[in-house]
Amino acid sequence: MTDEWGRGRVVLRSGAGAGATRIAGRAVLRVALRMRRCRGASPFVHPLERERERERERQEVEEMNSEGADRDDETTSRVEVTSNGHAEKVSSSRFTSLLASKDRDYLLSPTGSQVTVSDLEGHVVGLYFSANWYSPCRNFNCVLSEAYEQLKTNQSKFEVVFVSADEDLSAFNSYHSSMPWLAIPFSDLESKKALSRRFDVEGIPCLVILQPDGNKEEEILRNGVELIHRYGVEAFPFTRERLEELEREEKEKHENQTFTSLLSSHDRDFLLGHHPVTGQVPVASLVGKTLGLFFSAQWCLPGMKFTPKLVSIYQKIKHAISERPGAEDFEIVYVSSDRDRASFDSYFALIPWLALPFGDPKIRTLARHFDVQDIPCLVVLGPDGKTVTKHGRSLINLYQEQAYPFTEARLESLHRQMDEEAKGLPRSELHAGHHHELTLVSDSTGGGPFICCDCDEQGAGWAYLCVDCGYEVHPKCVRAAGGDSTVGP
Ligand SMILES: [Zn+2]
Ligand SMILES: [Zn+2]
Repeated sequence: MTDEWGRGRVVLRSGAGAGATRIAGRAVLRVALRMRRCRGASPFVHPLERERERERERQEVEEMNSEGADRDDETTSRVEVTSNGHAEKVSSSRFTSLLASKDRDYLLSPTGSQVTVSDLEGHVVGLYFSANWYSPCRNFNCVLSEAYEQLKTNQSKFEVVFVSADEDLSAFNSYHSSMPWLAIPFSDLESKKALSRRFDVEGIPCLVILQPDGNKEEEILRNGVELIHRYGVEAFPFTRERLEELEREEKEKHENQTFTSLLSSHDRDFLLGHHPVTGQVPVASLVGKTLGLFFSAQWCLPGMKFTPKLVSIYQKIKHAISERPGAEDFEIVYVSSDRDRASFDSYFALIPWLALPFGDPKIRTLARHFDVQDIPCLVVLGPDGKTVTKHGRSLINLYQEQAYPFTEARLESLHRQMDEEAKGLPRSELHAGHHHELTLVSDSTGGGPFICCDCDEQGAGWAYLCVDCGYEVHPKCVRAAGGDSTVGP
């Protein structure tokens, strides 16, 4: 199952009156839903702000694309010339042809001093397309800065060149001064647009990685952001061979993962529990249980909102297990991104499950191992320690305690059950909350994950949909127009 919340059907077709108003609500809701995931250390951003940002970003990229054409041809042809056999010359002029212009042979340091482009020769260079008005860019800055500083400390030949999509010079100056690397001068619109077009930059943040002597298209990596998130400095020098090696290592790690390898370290073989005396639970005691790793933090509003729901479902699952002797047990471990111990302590007091100690190095290792980029996130492990799903949170939202133990087999049986129940439902309904007739849809007939316009909860599988305006509700949420009776389970 893929996590496609927010990318489902945003239907903004015709529609008027009450329907249109509700749909607008639905569209905003989808954006809000996307927002409910916190990215890295991001503060909560209002959905409308995010929407404005997206719009600005689209315009910016469109402008870049439409205006960069002339310069682009020039750049491309230069690259082609250099790829026609003058290997040595290619190497020494590679970055100059890309990053300098006819009146400029330098880049700017964060303090505003000039650094000659030819100083980059021999370096792996990351072209960093970013803008200060977009919070994912600001967040990625922190991640990239950390990797950059580490690579510099190791004396690795790596450099980053910021290609700004800021709104004005003062925004650029203040943003660039917060970065440790170089930049194309803000005033050189031509070069910035040409680069954006040359590397098909469709969204920001974007990190394009160029090899010092490689000029083949397949050696250019456009997913630098993902690679840095996933592997950090380990990704250096960003060659195909290095990435294949990392992928192999990662696959091996996943195949061999156990509760102990994931949760213990050389000086700690326990987790924090709520036992009044010991307060500790041995990691070894988890073997044989289905285990949820809950990545969250107290500063993450969606995480705080999801927590009471997860507590209630955790208790229901535990209760059901207690009534079935011999059933595999369930446990959750809180993997905290809290910023201080006091926040961690107050959050831990709210939850009935275990936790990794505050600030434990394993927290970071786990986030990377499971490629957790958005919190809250619930990764579910089977009794043998292998990953069952990384979409525990969506599954809880969809099926509540019914989702347990989150396996493919369980989901298939839930879907069959839903199909069975849908057989008894009318093909169409008039719902009190909407002025058009609603049609029963499933995944295979135009349905898919949605947000119910009536109860605002997630839904999947069967639903009643207005094909004109995208209004969509759970079968259980349909209220007959003119009465308050419900249909469905
Ligand atoms: Zn509903
Ligand atoms: Zn409608």
